[in-house]
Amino acid sequence: MKKGMVYLVGAGPGAEDLITLKGLECIKVGDTIIYDYLANKKLLKYSKKGCELIYVGKKGSSHTMEQEDINQLIVDKVLEGKIVVRLKGGDPYVFGRGGEEVEELLKYNIDFEIVPGITAAIAASAYAGIPLTHRNYTSTVAFITGHERDDKEFSKIHWDKIANGVGTIVFYMGVKNLPNIVKNLIQSGRSPETPVALIRWGTLPTQKVVDGTLQNIVERVQTAKLTAPAIILVGEVVSLREKLRWFDKKSLFGKNIVITRAREQASELNNTLTKLGANVIEFPTIEIVEPKDFTELDNAISSIRSYDWLIFTSVNGVKIFLKRLSHHKKDLRELYGIKICAIGPKTAEVFINSGIHPDLIPPKYQAEYIIEEMEKIGISGKRFLLPRAKVARDVLPNKISEKGGIIDVVNVYETILPDTNKGEVRELFNNHQVDYITFTSSSTVKNFLEMFANDSVKDWFKTTKLVSIGPITSDTLRESGFAPSIEAEEFTIDGLIAAILKDSEVS
Ligand code: SAH
Repeated sequence: MKKGMVYLVGAGPGAEDLITLKGLECIKVGDTIIYDYLANKKLLKYSKKGCELIYVGKKGSSHTMEQEDINQLIVDKVLEGKIVVRLKGGDPYVFGRGGEEVEELLKYNIDFEIVPGITAAIAASAYAGIPLTHRNYTSTVAFITGHERDDKEFSKIHWDKIANGVGTIVFYMGVKNLPNIVKNLIQSGRSPETPVALIRWGTLPTQKVVDGTLQNIVERVQTAKLTAPAIILVGEVVSLREKLRWFDKKSLFGKNIVITRAREQASELNNTLTKLGANVIEFPTIEIVEPKDFTELDNAISSIRSYDWLIFTSVNGVKIFLKRLSHHKKDLRELYGIKICAIGPKTAEVFINSGIHPDLIPPKYQAEYIIEEMEKIGISGKRFLLPRAKVARDVLPNKISEKGGIIDVVNVYETILPDTNKGEVRELFNNHQVDYITFTSSSTVKNFLEMFANDSVKDWFKTTKLVSIGPITSDTLRESGFAPSIEAEEFTIDGLIAAILKDSEVS
């Protein structure tokens, strides 16, 4: 039997890309991942197929699972021969009870490794624009628990020594206890004018910072209704934030953006918006599936040498076409001499990456332009193949026939309604928290409205801006009774992002 072991992994402070390479490797190989409330759930998508995912999170005081039970769970899984990844927010050995879990493992002689993570104090302060040390301000820093435990660990803190003996003090788990922390520091001699900042959900697009001084911070935090999880940073370095802040100055910081593209296609849009500081909520309204029946495409492939032109209108069209070609033990040499038209830069890119440079890449999807370019070589009497989605509508095939070309349109993929969890998105819309929703095709509009047919979408869209990728998608919105708030000038993902940026600058 395979011998199990445990990786105690720090997931980092929140942002998905702040885990270590080793941490990510562990997630990829684990048979069982036992994770906490503070570990970013998005990291779980890197786990291997069939990996068992167990949530044992703690949220405030309502612990989902007691520590003893977690310890037992880890031990049980390892004894089954599993590679267990114990994934914890921040660093496992900084207020993470990692030590207790390892002590338990030792009782059973279980192998383990510790993978450090970036702890909240380091990460949240960096993202808030506050260096923990600075030669002009302080050269000492302390991490302290602000949590009052029943056994009075908190009261064991030597306030007199800390208040003036340490320059920068970071409290974890201290939001509820803030009044006591402030009182203790001031009573022990720290100046009431000392700058303080609370950073909630540091490094995430939902990061929130409230700052002030020891004297007024309690009131400010109450006004801002700031709750856990947050760190409390006390010290002169906090005053540097005004000059050094960067993360919350990003163009789309604080904006909630719902994107409705198919999951396989969403990453570029998601990554770019995230880099611009937005909180992106992926809500795929489309799933792309291969056609149930390949007969049409297979027939076309078997007589592929009879075509003069192949026209592709989407990345998926190209991918499925090439895959099917290979399925028939044919390859790119089969396309020798046949002209290729790729509509849109992304579609062209798939060809270029496979070693073929398309003969025609129209800058815009405009049938007239494409026809004009093709006529330079001649359309009449020539044979065209257009592999595309079942539902796509366009005028190109008609125009080609009008000009005397012979065109075969074959179905290469279908789009269906995915089985997506609607809960999170519904809640955001109901609370009027969505700033933008992007529609990248007519199907995304139709499917979104179908998925929420019984919700008050009309009311939702009063406070959300509808971003359309181009005129056809905008028409579909209008036909459904909604006016697009923004339309991309260039009908591409980059164009869509540019349109959102432009809008966010003026509003
Ligand atoms: N092991 C974790 C700490 C767990 S204790 C680490 O190394 O970061 C839980 C406390 O960590 C929270 O109450 C809060 O004070 C702090 N914390 C964790 N993630 C945080 C984040 N993203 N932003 C602000 N504080 C965070």
